[in-house]
Amino acid sequence: MSDPIAPVDAGARRAIKPVICYPNESLPKPDVALYRAARADARKVDEVTVPPRDAACFTVPAGHFFRISSVEGPQVGDLNLWNAEDLSERFYSGKTRALHGTHVTTEEQLWSSFPHLRSMATITEDTLGWYGIDDFGGSVHDVIGTRCDPYTGNLLAGSQYHHCCHSNLTRALADHLGVPLAEAEPHVHDVLNVFMCTGFTRDTGQYFMKASPVRPGDYLEFFAEIPLLGALSACPGGDCSAEHSSDSALCYPLKVEVFAPQQGSLEGWESPAVNGYNRSHGR
Ligand SMILES: [Zn+2]
Repeated sequence: MSDPIAPVDAGARRAIKPVICYPNESLPKPDVALYRAARADARKVDEVTVPPRDAACFTVPAGHFFRISSVEGPQVGDLNLWNAEDLSERFYSGKTRALHGTHVTTEEQLWSSFPHLRSMATITEDTLGWYGIDDFGGSVHDVIGTRCDPYTGNLLAGSQYHHCCHSNLTRALADHLGVPLAEAEPHVHDVLNVFMCTGFTRDTGQYFMKASPVRPGDYLEFFAEIPLLGALSACPGGDCSAEHSSDSALCYPLKVEVFAPQQGSLEGWESPAVNGYNRSHGR
């Protein structure tokens, strides 16, 4: 095969301006002011520590808040979320990316899988919100990565590594549900990469990571729009400055805290309904 020849109007075709696929101004707007007012006098009801190179589960009732914090040192977390009452409804990283962009921050929402497609959680606080997009095109809290996993390592290097986020999440979920690993594994899905700094290279379009700007004390906080089961893995890549899927990076724990609002402080709020499409699919 020879290299394809560019047409005479190649420059003109490339010069066409892009349009946004999903203008999101018409998305239902979360009442973040109400959430923040409710958060002000909320009280802590649970705390879970995620050990380095491992994962832990936590539950958050609808209308409660959860905060993921950096403690001890820079550390990236891989987050899975399910509807606590129906694990078939889970976080849909790809659609969240299509709606909000490659990275998420305050006032943006995490959307659930079909046929539910509704907001599972709203980001109410992000202490890394100052970071923006750096000169390499990198930003934090991405929905472009998948989750580090032992299958890709095996494909690329023939390795057998057992503490990738995929395996950590699988073990944590199996323990939480009291089911065998093989039953838990299919529930694990593409993550929100909490605190991870990533982007795509401008020249080759490849997925890149760089040292996370997170420092102990930084946090990302969410309002649970529906009852949530969460699983968080402290990635074996640590701050993801060099490599993942190995035991060579410095790794630190992550902290998850759950906060309950005072009775009556969410007056007028209710969980979003499942998606309104009638599911007839043209039949
Ligand atoms: Zn990972």
